[in-house]
Amino acid sequence: MPSDRAAFVYDVRLTEHVYRPDHPLRPERLRGVHATLSELGAFDRPNAAVLAPRDATRHEIERIHAPDYVEAVMQASADPDLDFSQWGMQQWGDTPPFRGMHEASLLTTGATLVAMAEVIDGGARVAVNYAGGLHHAMRRRASGFCIYNDPAIVCGLLADRGMKVAYVDIDAHHGDGVQAAFYDTDQVLTISLHQDGRTLFPGTGFADERGSGKGAGYSINMPLAPYTDDAAYIPAFDAVVPPLVDRFRPDVLVTQQGIDSHFSDPLTHLMVSTRTREHCVRWFRAAPYPWVAMGGGGYDLDAVRRTWSMEYLIMLGASIPSELHDPDPPVATGARRTMIDEAVDGAMRDALAAAFR
Ligand SMILES: [Zn+2]
Repeated sequence: MPSDRAAFVYDVRLTEHVYRPDHPLRPERLRGVHATLSELGAFDRPNAAVLAPRDATRHEIERIHAPDYVEAVMQASADPDLDFSQWGMQQWGDTPPFRGMHEASLLTTGATLVAMAEVIDGGARVAVNYAGGLHHAMRRRASGFCIYNDPAIVCGLLADRGMKVAYVDIDAHHGDGVQAAFYDTDQVLTISLHQDGRTLFPGTGFADERGSGKGAGYSINMPLAPYTDDAAYIPAFDAVVPPLVDRFRPDVLVTQQGIDSHFSDPLTHLMVSTRTREHCVRWFRAAPYPWVAMGGGGYDLDAVRRTWSMEYLIMLGASIPSELHDPDPPVATGARRTMIDEAVDGAMRDALAAAFR
């Protein structure tokens, strides 16, 4: 590895778009992350770098998305009052059309592409775009707050260079759009840990969705029971992610680090704390793979601020101030403990049984 540099892609323009005044996804949340890291002196460290985003090109977007869908997003961006429901965008739905959405999404995606280039060119050991990680967008459909699927675009562009890519998604929701994009190939291994689709959007992500054709065994899913806490999540991660990623031996590790799995998140029922996230992100950093990281969901703004600040400090190899951690994470007991542990045990076994050999 050429350096221990950890790059952070940021510009206030990544934080300025508003889906709808009452919408839970608030890009402004990144300002708190940036301000906290600035106050802690993170960007003054010798191995830190702040990189400016760029706009993704139409060609890059079309690595994953159909041209007619991109045209529809451009039209929605200019005239959001028209009807775009056939493309997954509805005024009062999860993913509303809004003025400037195409331009905002080009910048969000381009920020992830800047992170990718920095890592592939050897400029950094890891680069992160916390504005990205929009893993639900499909080839011809917006979905779940996601317009252009930047993690899938990055995985696809890396695969086009002949690289093997391991994609690990620790958002509370199934990484369905990324899984769909690489379902039939063994060049991109997708692993998603998420709340069970029987209880949460998008309703998919079961162990039997394991890929098809050459891709059989290269889509790995770990549906976790509602109320899964640190004590269950950490062993589940350890049982599946390190062994499968190491067996696959990727050229690049790509991670989606949505923090809507946090116990205080208003949209999901997973119950993990900053302790789980410290554990996962320390493994990503210790693994011997160039690493492109993204954000994702996260709807409790203070949990987002503390967790993503902590994660970037881990990327830098810096110590973590105690005020970033949850002081008192929840621990399930009694019948709920038994239910969670049994469900997680089953999910681990099923995920490993479904995996490539
Ligand atoms: Zn999510």
